[in-house]
Amino acid sequence: MSNFDALSLVNPGVKQLRPYQAGKPVSELQRELGLQHVVKLASNENPLGLSEKVKTALEAELNDLVRYPDANGYYLKSRLAELNSVTTQQITLGNGSNDVLEILARTFVSDQDEVIFSQHAFVVYPLVTQAIGAKPVAVPAVDYGHDLDGMAAAITDKTKMIFIANPNNPTGTFLTTESIKAFLGKVPQNVIVVLDEAYYEYVPEAERAPSVEWIKEYPNLVVSRTFSKAYGLAGLRAGYAVSHEGIADVLNRIRQPFNMNSLSLKAAEVVLDDHAYLQKAVEVNAHGMKQLTDFCEGAGFNYIPSYGNFLTIEVGPDAEKLYDELLHEGVIVRPVTGYELPNHLRVSIGLPEENEAFIKAMKKLRG
Ligand SMILES: *Cc1c(COP(=O)(O)O)cnc(C)c1O
Repeated sequence: MSNFDALSLVNPGVKQLRPYQAGKPVSELQRELGLQHVVKLASNENPLGLSEKVKTALEAELNDLVRYPDANGYYLKSRLAELNSVTTQQITLGNGSNDVLEILARTFVSDQDEVIFSQHAFVVYPLVTQAIGAKPVAVPAVDYGHDLDGMAAAITDKTKMIFIANPNNPTGTFLTTESIKAFLGKVPQNVIVVLDEAYYEYVPEAERAPSVEWIKEYPNLVVSRTFSKAYGLAGLRAGYAVSHEGIADVLNRIRQPFNMNSLSLKAAEVVLDDHAYLQKAVEVNAHGMKQLTDFCEGAGFNYIPSYGNFLTIEVGPDAEKLYDELLHEGVIVRPVTGYELPNHLRVSIGLPEENEAFIKAMKKLRG
């Protein structure tokens, strides 16, 4: 047993993988430091709590848990198709959108291929690329955001997939409609472009790209969305992709038939109709964003202007130490050293009193 070296057997890409660094769970910090009151602003979760409509629907769904879920997610897909003005054949459901991103990579990318994404972009892109043994091509960021010209210039004969997060996590940077459209025009159709819109609902409507409409003109474009952020269902795992029917067809062959469970299917379907919940989530976010940016400006901290439900703040070279000190104050934020941002901390927007707890701790520690 002790001499068995599993790492020597795995494929070379997997060998380089580091485990995903998730935000510290509240219960873990309570256990470790004996703290009663803990505020978690570390995983871009919705601070509103679960939609009441979802809660009621889930209770009714419990009796059916003895059955397998609907493998086709008929009702959810129908609602999503309607909402996005596409056919149900263009939708692929995922156990969170991370699942969809992983299925996309496994479907199209082989170990001979290259995958392009931006420096400081969402960590799942290099992760799914490396797991396949494909070559990750990280294009240096400009002003913390995607350099689409640089990404277009990085395309080679071997490029198979390009990931773009808009808005990006953990920087919150946002690409204009025109810039993405121009980029799509430069990408050959044998390269799949994945536009990850996990924070779509937080973007003011006037600034949202008509990304799903572009699929008609650019059949190599895939748009992914999630229920984990503005819809407040992170724990249930629900996400989806909209694509050309041909792409959805292969994705649906590869995905596990029950990758969305009965509860997440039901919750996602119901929350789509809870307009008041979504509106409140967006309002609370805008309010909290102002609370945090006002604090940064008053205290002299630079921050990266954000279109998401989080703010990434430049706190200086002792960011990891400050993260630790904040833990002792009962505030969990997210270090982003792994994203090549060693001087920053990412703070998710919480309820007003949660944001205030962070501000108060910052004033105490760095005031
Ligand atoms: C949170 C996030 C996701 C969504 O993750 P889920 O698997 O749907 O919970 C996807 N992309 C980005 C950029 C994110 O920040």
